[in-house]
Amino acid sequence: MLELGKTGRKLINMDHGLSRIFGPVPSRRLGLSLGVDLIPHKTCSFDCVYCQIGRTTDKRIDPESFYSSEKIISEAKKYIPCSKAQTITLAGSGEPTLSKDLEEILRAIKEISHIPVALLTNGSLFWKPEIREASLIADIILPTFSAAREETFRRLHRPHPQLTLKKVIEGLQRLRDEYHGQIFLELMLVKGVNDDDQEIEALGRKIQELAPDKVQINTVVRPPSEPGTGPVSPHRLEEVKNFLGPRAEVVVATQEDRVASKPSREVILLEMIRRRPLSAQDIQKVTGESLDHVNSLLTDLIAKGLIEEQIHNGASYYKVK
Ligand code: SF4
Repeated sequence: MLELGKTGRKLINMDHGLSRIFGPVPSRRLGLSLGVDLIPHKTCSFDCVYCQIGRTTDKRIDPESFYSSEKIISEAKKYIPCSKAQTITLAGSGEPTLSKDLEEILRAIKEISHIPVALLTNGSLFWKPEIREASLIADIILPTFSAAREETFRRLHRPHPQLTLKKVIEGLQRLRDEYHGQIFLELMLVKGVNDDDQEIEALGRKIQELAPDKVQINTVVRPPSEPGTGPVSPHRLEEVKNFLGPRAEVVVATQEDRVASKPSREVILLEMIRRRPLSAQDIQKVTGESLDHVNSLLTDLIAKGLIEEQIHNGASYYKVK
């Protein structure tokens, strides 16, 4: 078992594997967010070309209990009360609605704290009544909605064979009818895939029907799973925002301005980088350490062969090997 002296927080338990609680990490959409990860790495109903955590290795639509909910709830009881997080987010290594324990864990977290609980989801499974019912407990649901035509949907998300865009939209419509919390749709724009006028107009019509509280427009910032997948320009992001109206906002990496006060240690860095590729600046913001210190730790981890640098759009990101 490894203990972190400065905070006393146990991040890695050698007997039982990695903690399912991570962060807090700066989120472009939710501020400083403590993550709860219910899903094994890359277990998902999609295999998006822009995915920042690699190719999907277990593509599925049927939920399963992947980890002991008792253990996750006990970790949540330990870490959430002392967290400075602004939100608790069910997110991480795959699609959280694929966890059979979603409802039980959401209920337990709501009992532990009053911090708003967000569900970060690809939105593909709300046609399943049991998944809608479990999700209703969250305070904010953030589904992805980035394609309004079947062909674009397939190209962008490479979904499970039993998923169609029609099915996904039906699920999102039912969710809107039944859910009284806030829905923030994420529109992920990829250059040359879903950024042309025809697609944006079709998206605008569907988004109108889905009546979200916000539309958060995003683009490819971190290294994608499919090489050659690129971001749209800031100008195009603004054009799309203006087209979609007052509910729309552009969320870009420069808005990641939340600072956490966690110590910088190799194991924390590895845990953070394992979740998603990060730049030295991202890590600096989370840990509060100087950039020089972060760079020196990153250099050590590269020398040990634990992480590697990847250049994306001229910026350096670090990912586990
Ligand atoms: S971006 Fe999200 S929905 Fe898409 S493959 Fe990655 S984890 Fe799944």
